[in-house]
Amino acid sequence: MRVLGIESSCDETGVALYDTEQGLLAHALFSQIDLHAEYGGVVPELASRDHIRKTLPLIDEVLNSAGLTTQDIDAVAYTAGPGLAGALLVGAAIGRSVAWALDKPALAINHMEGHLLSPLLEDRSPAFPFVSLLVSGGHTLLVDVKAVGDYELLGESVDDAVGEAFDKTAKLLGMDYPGGPYLAAKAEEGTADRFEFPRPMTNRPGLDFSFSGLKTFAMNTWLDSDKTEQDKADIALAFQTAVVETLAIKCRRALKQTGHKRLVVAGGVSANKALRTKLDAMPGVDVFYPRQQFCSDNGAMIAFAGAIRQQAMVKQDAPSFSVRPRWPLNELTPP
Ligand code: ATP
Ligand code: MG
Ligand code: FE
Repeated sequence: MRVLGIESSCDETGVALYDTEQGLLAHALFSQIDLHAEYGGVVPELASRDHIRKTLPLIDEVLNSAGLTTQDIDAVAYTAGPGLAGALLVGAAIGRSVAWALDKPALAINHMEGHLLSPLLEDRSPAFPFVSLLVSGGHTLLVDVKAVGDYELLGESVDDAVGEAFDKTAKLLGMDYPGGPYLAAKAEEGTADRFEFPRPMTNRPGLDFSFSGLKTFAMNTWLDSDKTEQDKADIALAFQTAVVETLAIKCRRALKQTGHKRLVVAGGVSANKALRTKLDAMPGVDVFYPRQQFCSDNGAMIAFAGAIRQQAMVKQDAPSFSVRPRWPLNELTPP
C-alpha cells in the first residue's frame, strides 16, 4: 500500500510517499523560515498562502522522484491538527481533494502522533511499549505508548514548550528565529558551570514541566552581565544544560513509573546534540530518535502514520470480528 502524506500545520510544507512493503519512497520539504524571519515568528496568514503555493508542486516532485503517478497512490494522509487553522485547512483541502479525485481513502492524521511514530521509520526502530518524550515548538509531552493509538499522557508543560523556551531565550540573546539551533551552536563555545540555572519542578513528584521561568532567569543573567559574546555563550550553555537535565530527570521518572525500558524522543528539539548525549548515557535504557531531518516537521511522518492507520483499518474490515467484555460507555464516539 502506498500512502501520500501532506504536512502543513505550521511553517513547513512537507510531502512524502510511503510504501508499506518498500518503506519511504520519496519526500520533499519546503521550509518557510525565510518568509517569517523578519517578523521574529510565524505569521499565520503568510504561512497559509505559502502552503497553497507549495503543496501541489511538492506532490509532483515526490511522485517524479519515486517514478510514480497519482494512479499509484492508495491513500492520502494529511495533518488535521494540532496547528494553525488556516495552514491545516490548506493541507486538508488538498489532501481530501486528491483522495476524492482518485477515489481513495483520505486519512486525517494527528501531527503529534506523526512526531511520536517518526522514529519507527528508522532501521533501528523501537518495539512497543515505550515512553515517548515529545519536544517541539508547541509541545512538551511525556507519553506512555502501549501501541499505535494507545497513548496515556504522563506529563506536559504547564507553560512554554521546550522549543518555545529555546526560541524565546535565543531571541533575547539577539539570535534569529527560530533560535533553538543557534542557541545550541552558541552553547558549544560556553564555559561549563559559570552560571547555575534552576531545574524547574524536579524537586517535587510528578511528570509535568515548566520552562517559562528559565527564560526569565536567562534574561536576568544576561542583563546583569557585560553582554559579551562569551557571556552569551555561557548563558546559552547554562540554559541548555538546565533544560536537558530537567528533561532527563523526568524521563527517568517516567521510565521507572511505567517499567518500560525503551525511550523514544521526537519533535524539533530531539535534534539537540546535548540532549541526545545525556539521554544516551542513561543506564539500562534503549533510546530511539528520528533521523536529524525528520526531527522537525516533515511529510514522511504523516505518510507513515497514515499507512499504519490505514493498514489497521483494512485489517478491521477483513471478515473477522471481536468482542469487548469490558466496554465503558464513555469510550464511545459519535457515528
Ligand atoms: P509542534 O510540533 O508542537 O506543533 P512545531 O511543529 O513548530 O511544533 P517542530 O518543527 O517539531 O515544532 O520543532 C521546531 C522547534 O525545534 C523549534 O522551537 C526549534 O527551535 C527547535 N529546535 C530545532 N533544532 C533544535 C536544536 N538543535 N536544539 C534545540 N531546539 C531545536
Ligand atoms: Mg516548524
Ligand atoms: Fe511539529
